[in-house]
Amino acid sequence: MIRIDSVTKRYPDGTVAVDRLSLEIPDRSITVLVGPSGCGKTTTLRMINRMVEPSEGTILLDGVDIQQQPVNTLRRSMGYVIQNAGLFQHRTIVDNIATVPRLLGWSKQKARARAAELMERVGLDSALAKRYPYQLSGGQQQRVGVARALAADPPVLLMDEPFSAVDPVVRKGLQDELLRIQEELGKTIVFVTHDIDEAIKLGTMVAVMRTGGRLAQYAPPAELLTSPADPFVEDFLGTDRGIRRLSFFPSGQLELLTAPIVAVDADAEKIAARGSAEVPHLLVTDLDGKPLGWGEPQDLTAGEIVPERLLPHGRPFVHGKDSLRAALDCAVLSPTGWAVGVDGTGRVVGVVSQQTIAEAIRHAHADAHPDGRVDEVKAAG
Ligand code: ADP
Repeated sequence: MIRIDSVTKRYPDGTVAVDRLSLEIPDRSITVLVGPSGCGKTTTLRMINRMVEPSEGTILLDGVDIQQQPVNTLRRSMGYVIQNAGLFQHRTIVDNIATVPRLLGWSKQKARARAAELMERVGLDSALAKRYPYQLSGGQQQRVGVARALAADPPVLLMDEPFSAVDPVVRKGLQDELLRIQEELGKTIVFVTHDIDEAIKLGTMVAVMRTGGRLAQYAPPAELLTSPADPFVEDFLGTDRGIRRLSFFPSGQLELLTAPIVAVDADAEKIAARGSAEVPHLLVTDLDGKPLGWGEPQDLTAGEIVPERLLPHGRPFVHGKDSLRAALDCAVLSPTGWAVGVDGTGRVVGVVSQQTIAEAIRHAHADAHPDGRVDEVKAAG
């Protein structure tokens, strides 16, 4: 664990970049420092690997004051990734990644083998190994930066706005990759960003900082969204807090209906089917269970579905894997107001109405209520 204990950084010109900051950064998780520009995020990160020395306070790594370790030993235990990757332009990709192992005295062959392994881990094609950084896209360079930081297998990874300079699509890919790498390797990651959505997506814990280098709130993302500590945090979180919080509730508890599903042969011209009060719509699938579309209400009234006239089923949600937010989105976008739930292979496992999703949302919120008030009422009733 990294423990930042009442740390202040005053630069020689008098600027107080960080003001009495205390944070406990848990092992094997992603802790995000987020806040507006100039609030002391980079300074905090750099104090952890002693690129900047605190003016007051201490930083402990596994209970030991980092001042008591030789700087080189400390930095070897901490990979460092910055915006624009900061690669050595005159070195090939494989040699960029092999830099630290080589410094540690590994043979060229062993260091390159390690680099090749890491390229695969961060999703880089091995054909890029011999290229130079300028021959790679921004997103690819960023992956090289991550691979290079992981090369000597440090337990800690410090990342300073690593994905800020790439476009949103590439950025989402890099974020997903980081979550996957974190799950596989269990590194302790401290991640700096000014983007609250990135913080909420990546953080196990999120530290919101305000100008003047003070901590505004330190909490898991779902808690930030539910209970922002003050108007500054609330404002920084932006709109749609309630909807965004639904991303933290799983869809697995949703009760899906299977009665409204009919499987048809691809050659079927007409399907005898009738709607009912409980099941006003019928979802048609192929014989393999893949969704084809919704039966038109008037066809159901007439008692026959005409396959060419099916309404689009929209993008389904993966039941149990996707969140309530994804399920709600499907239902909102569906022409029938019902969402289609599929399994990991895309086969329909059931359908669910907006109403049922709304009830699940109410329950999820109630169950998650910090003071348990609703649960007590339920138990008493
Ligand atoms: P952030 O990463 O949140 O943008 P920084 O940690 O880079 O914030 O900076 C915090 C404050 O410290 C800012 O006001 C910045 O101008 C100031 N600052 C950063 N580095 C120095 C420095 N070397 N000398 C003086 N002031 C600095």
